[in-house]
Amino acid sequence: MEKQTLFHIENLSRYYKTNRGNLRAVDNVSFDIYEGETLGLVGESGCGKTTCGRTLIGLYTQTYGTVYYRGKNVHTLKGNEKKSFNKDIQMVFQDAYSSLDPRMTVGDIIAEGIEIHHLAGSKKERDEQVCHYLELVGLGAEHRSRYAHEFSGGQRQRIGIARALAVQPSFILLDEPISALDVSIQAQIVNLLMELQKKLGLTYMFVAHDLSMVRIVSDRVAVMYLGNLVELASSDEIYYNPLHPYTKALYSSVPIPDPELESQRLSEKIVLPDLIDSGPRTEEGCKFANRCGYCTKKCTESSPALRDDGSGHFAACHNPLSNEGVSVRDRQIVF
Ligand code: SF4
Repeated sequence: MEKQTLFHIENLSRYYKTNRGNLRAVDNVSFDIYEGETLGLVGESGCGKTTCGRTLIGLYTQTYGTVYYRGKNVHTLKGNEKKSFNKDIQMVFQDAYSSLDPRMTVGDIIAEGIEIHHLAGSKKERDEQVCHYLELVGLGAEHRSRYAHEFSGGQRQRIGIARALAVQPSFILLDEPISALDVSIQAQIVNLLMELQKKLGLTYMFVAHDLSMVRIVSDRVAVMYLGNLVELASSDEIYYNPLHPYTKALYSSVPIPDPELESQRLSEKIVLPDLIDSGPRTEEGCKFANRCGYCTKKCTESSPALRDDGSGHFAACHNPLSNEGVSVRDRQIVF
């Protein structure tokens, strides 16, 4: 079946003005998000992944480029189209606690979107919907009169998910949704998100730096480096056969939860020089050149474009690796 494009992102850039000129948080990125998939967006802290996610849902204005949602330009939507977009697109935040109003009951927090978008015909119907969404995320309806501070971190994240679901969205931007949670709770939230996706036909963008979790959750993974998209492929392809040296280094540092396998692959780990210690970058050329073990003269002279290798595996590199991915056999996380 042909994949339906939900988001089409074209040359998207988002700059911030600083004393030292423009900081290119997102720099000329282009990709699609297909209906029903989970696209993982990964990279080191500060690589621009959160800014990219927030710009594509219209929360931040873009400096250049265009984002199309179901064929319409997100940043020029007005009136009913804008309202409909705001309902269709929801977000789950990393810090569930600060994203929930401490003065509102959980019931009122979930009901807010239902009221704004007129999704219930009466108060009774609204309350029924609140109970339904609480139960959908594994919390009892009796919790609706309590306040956010009375819940654990995992429960608060469930409330954040219920709030997002209550307006019946098509797409949810999951911005580091599990990184503030205990490891034991992370798997529960990930399993819940995957169940809900199947049940409700949702599309996700999963922004994270935990690569092992991203691999489990995502159909495809996009890798960002200093504002650029450097690789995009199916989750397995990018894991077993990374083409970009940065992706290879990132994945080589993912720990395997098996001491024997972990010790066998210690020699495969690639330790990148720290960004600050890695020396100056040239204005032209590949942004990864000063940390890359495969750098050639061409890399410092011209910036590599994101190219498809013919199989839907995109990489922005003058010297892509070929079938030389990190040896990651048996690197599975079992919940
Ligand atoms: Fe390394 Fe050159 Fe590829 Fe950049 S273009 S990642 S410097 S090999």
